[in-house]
Amino acid sequence: MTGKPCIICVAITGSLPTKANNPAVPITIAEQIESTQQAFEAGASIAHCHVRDDEGKPTSDPVRFAALMEGIQRHCPGMIIQLSTGGRSGAGAARGGMLPLRPDMASLSVGSNNFPTRVYENPPDLVDWLAAEMITHGVKPEVEAFDLSHILKAHEMWRKGQIAALPYVQFVMGVKNAMPADRDVFDYYIHTVRRLFGADVHWCAAGIGPAQLTLNEWSVSAGGHARTGLEDNVRLDKDRLAPSNAALVARVVELCVKYDRPVANATQARALLGLKPS
Ligand SMILES: [Zn+2]
Repeated sequence: MTGKPCIICVAITGSLPTKANNPAVPITIAEQIESTQQAFEAGASIAHCHVRDDEGKPTSDPVRFAALMEGIQRHCPGMIIQLSTGGRSGAGAARGGMLPLRPDMASLSVGSNNFPTRVYENPPDLVDWLAAEMITHGVKPEVEAFDLSHILKAHEMWRKGQIAALPYVQFVMGVKNAMPADRDVFDYYIHTVRRLFGADVHWCAAGIGPAQLTLNEWSVSAGGHARTGLEDNVRLDKDRLAPSNAALVARVVELCVKYDRPVANATQARALLGLKPS
């Protein structure tokens, strides 16, 4: 599927990585804005964002999210801002406390699964509430599919009107104790989103740790969009730390060249995903 623009999402910080893992992980808001700008200039058009508190611990503090959004809007004109409602940054309704800021997008997990050392809990009432808040505030969800059942759940929610427009599904592979990077499963994920949502559906994939580059190549070559960034992986390879988020974005740009996929700029990415122009 050559020729179709590829949207590159950069997951800049996440909840887990620390400066001890890699000094390039941006933790403060100022570091996050600078790292996002470098990644934007390298070709990323979506910034997937978490925020940390003064001790570097994950938080869902809307004040910090607002400051990060403002900085990204100022330094990365048109870039799509996607805020995380993931479960490592808070519990219950606190996970959606930033949605009234009306970011372009927010992540939405629609089911539970295991994580490396715990259960990733997404109870049905919380999923329903987060989805409703996204509709109220005009936020496009990105469905995080850690399992096949999450794709089918997203379809059910779409049919019921709990997800307003065609869902944008992110396949997440390589989380320990969840779905590994398995090519047959990946292919079946693509088959399933196309069957349920139509051949023109947009999908993305993220690989964790060493699976990042693998999933980047599978996605770019199969006509999907690609997520990279220090949230998911802090290394270039087993011997070298990634020097920046931009360096990980540059790896995806190289794959886009290899597979004849133009890199979508922010304006194109907004049009592809049905988002309003900035
Ligand atoms: Zn995240």
